[in-house]
Formats: sequence, C-alpha cells, structure tokens
Amino acid sequence: MSATRKWTGTAVPGVRGLEPYRPGKPVEELEREYGIRGAIKLASNENPLGAGPRAMEALAQALANIARYPDGGGFALKSAIARRHGVDPACVTLGNGSNDILELAARCFVSAGDEVVFSEHAFAVYPIVTQAVGARAVVVPARDWGHDLDAMLAAVTGRTRLVFIANPNNPTGTWLRRTELAHFIGQLPDSVVVVLDEAYAEYVEEPDYPNGIEWTGRYPSLVVARTFSKAYGLAGLRMGFGISDPVLADLLNRVRQPFNVNSLAQAAAVAALEDTGHLERSRRLNGEGMRQLTGGFRALGLRFIPSVGNFVSVELPLPGREVYERLLRRGVIVRPVDNYGMPHHLRVTVGLPEENSRFLESLAQVL
Ligand SMILES: *Cc1c(COP(=O)(O)O)cnc(C)c1O
Repeated sequence: MSATRKWTGTAVPGVRGLEPYRPGKPVEELEREYGIRGAIKLASNENPLGAGPRAMEALAQALANIARYPDGGGFALKSAIARRHGVDPACVTLGNGSNDILELAARCFVSAGDEVVFSEHAFAVYPIVTQAVGARAVVVPARDWGHDLDAMLAAVTGRTRLVFIANPNNPTGTWLRRTELAHFIGQLPDSVVVVLDEAYAEYVEEPDYPNGIEWTGRYPSLVVARTFSKAYGLAGLRMGFGISDPVLADLLNRVRQPFNVNSLAQAAAVAALEDTGHLERSRRLNGEGMRQLTGGFRALGLRFIPSVGNFVSVELPLPGREVYERLLRRGVIVRPVDNYGMPHHLRVTVGLPEENSRFLESLAQVL
C-alpha cells in the first residue's frame, strides 16, 4: 500500500456512479445554519404524535439490558408480528427499517447485468439498491403520477429479477386497487421477485386498498415490506419487516446481518403492535390534517396529487426548490422532490394542526 500516492478509489462500477439518498433536513441543522429557533419539520413522513406510550415504557425497561446483544432471531417480535398478521413466524424477516428489506431483496435476487423494474416518481431507494448491485434500472413512465401496471408488465423481460411496487407510493401518495394489483402479480413469472412496499398501509382508508400480506401464501416470490417508521412513530429506532413465503424469508435471512434490529427497537415494536389506541389516534389525526392541508391548498388555488398516505405533494407556480428555500428561512422544512422528476412540486408531511397551519401560512407568504 502506498503511503504517499493519492488513492483514486476502486469501488465497483455501480457504487462509483451512485447518487446517495437525500434525507429530509433535520431541524437542528436548519436552526444551526440559519440561526433560527422553533423550526418545524414536515419533511420525512414521521408521526407528529411521536411514539406511543406503550412503546416508550417498553424502551425504558429495555434500556437495562443494552449491554447484551439483541435476540438475533427476534423471537418475541417475530411472534408478535406473525400473530398480528395471521402468518407463521417463519414468514417474517426483520429489517433495520424496511429499507433493509428492500436492500436484502436486491442482494438476494439480483446480479450485475440483471434488470429491476419500478415506476417513475417511485421511492428513491429503489434505484439506489438496484445500482449498488450493478443491475440496470428499468424505470417505467408513470400514469397520472401513479404506477402504470400494464406498462410495467410490458417492461418485464427475461432479464428482470425484481419489481418494486410502492402501494401507496411515496412521494406521490397514489395507490393501486386490489383487482389491478392482484392481476399484475398473477401475470408475473415466478422468476421475478415482487417487493410490495406498504410503508403507509396503516394510513389507507380506501375499501379497495389491498393488504398484500394476504397474497403471500399464494405467491412464493412475493415479499411485502412494512415499517414501524411511519404510523407507529418509531423512525429513529429503525425497525421494519418483510412477510413472504418461508423459502423466500429463509433466503433473505441468510444475508441479513445477524443483529440488524437492536434490542430497543425489538422491545418497542412489540409494545407498539399492542398499542392500538395510539395507532387509531395517529390515523385520525392524519385524516384531519390531510383535510386541513388540502383545504388550504384549494384556498390558495394550488393543485395537489390526492394522497392516501401521511403526506401530500402540492404543485407550485414556482420551482419547488425555490419555495423550499423560502420556507426554510421561515423555519418550515418540507421536502423538495425535483430528484423524483417533480421539479414543480413539494411534498409535505401531515403534522399537528398548528404545524399544518404554520406551513400553510408560510406558504401563502412565500408565494
Ligand atoms: C419511509 C419509506 C420506507 C421505509 O422506511 P424505513 O424507515 O426504512 O422503514 C419504505 N418505503 C417507502 C415508500 C417509504 O416512504
């Protein structure tokens, strides 16, 4: 190894050209950079109520044991998830956030040169995990901001190994109905793994919205990804999971880091699953906040993409980045989505009523 010559890097080709994920700006960073106080963040689809009381209690108790490694098999948590969703614990794969499940699926099933199909305007992690394994992303143009399943089916070739579907999708909030999605999955060959990303499932109130977990017994190459980061309010702990046929789960578990879910996350997630009151309050607050935001947009004459999640993308008469910067100066953090091919939109997370009001007032001022 040379101690003097400049190292030019030998990363694999996919990684060399990779654009890292851009997270929402943390409140502390904004306050530090702009010298302001009392900023609010409506940028990362977090639960404005925070974690529930049961999860907080479980965390306090679990703290006593953090010198110990977590249960690598996640026995208690897998059992609780399995019970809640009516599956066998062997169908569950625990993830360090559901992001981990997306990545495990790519690492398990996709080689360099293979193809991965997903929609335009879909979640930014899909292209990242695809490129990291040296595969080719086949990005299918969206229809009315949502997934065009016919076009996605037509995009599947002999080289396709994986399809990502976000239902509902982030950042558009669009969703797929039971019949159309069931038809799509049924048409795919078993050689194509489908990752059905249901990060916002708990928020959706549409009667035609499908619970993908119910299909996992029928389709051996389907994995449904869920998370505790959104409606359960545990984003900081990093806890998600996959539900699939046990054979697929076994494969995912082979490449999973043995202790990928820490002990605090496991304890909190078990408790959060039991806290149906907190989930119900979170849902109700979200429904009210969504009506508040969309009503505010209408009053301002702004168009938005109807969303079933805990966020909504609003269309602006100015570039989204420009409005984002102006809002930052007023201490309001939302999410620019130009990197999602949506330069004239901003995505805003449903917050507490007073946060939604402050955002709407600030938006009216900066426009
Ligand atoms: C937030 C989000 C996730 C997962 O987040 P984790 O915190 O890693 O569980 C997955 N998919 C979509 C579409 C999301 O918006």
